Amino acid sequence: MNEITSLKDRTRAFSKERDWEQYHNPKDLAIALVLEATEVLEPFRFKTEFNKEELAKELADVLNILLRLSDVLDIDIMHWFEEKMKENEKKYPVEKSYGLNLKYSEFED
Ligand SMILES: [Mg+2]
Repeated sequence: MNEITSLKDRTRAFSKERDWEQYHNPKDLAIALVLEATEVLEPFRFKTEFNKEELAKELADVLNILLRLSDVLDIDIMHWFEEKMKENEKKYPVEKSYGLNLKYSEFED
């Protein structure tokens, strides 16, 4: 069992113990994921310094919901992470993207 599977099992057990699985449909989990992602901004709001622990907790909330959503939909998130990284490597080859903040569509041929 890989670590992602173990984390998914943990989020599933947490939900099951609380009888929350009934609320964990894809739409509501997708909404929750975006809402949790916006909370990542909270430690930065009106501050020049941020609390790293507060930020880490918000990132963990995002991971929690991401794992739950991928579990409910039986999505192998590690497989798709690898697929997306391959796509990103093709879209952003080092020789075209090194040190640049351009979108791939802005690269000159
Ligand atoms: Mg949060």
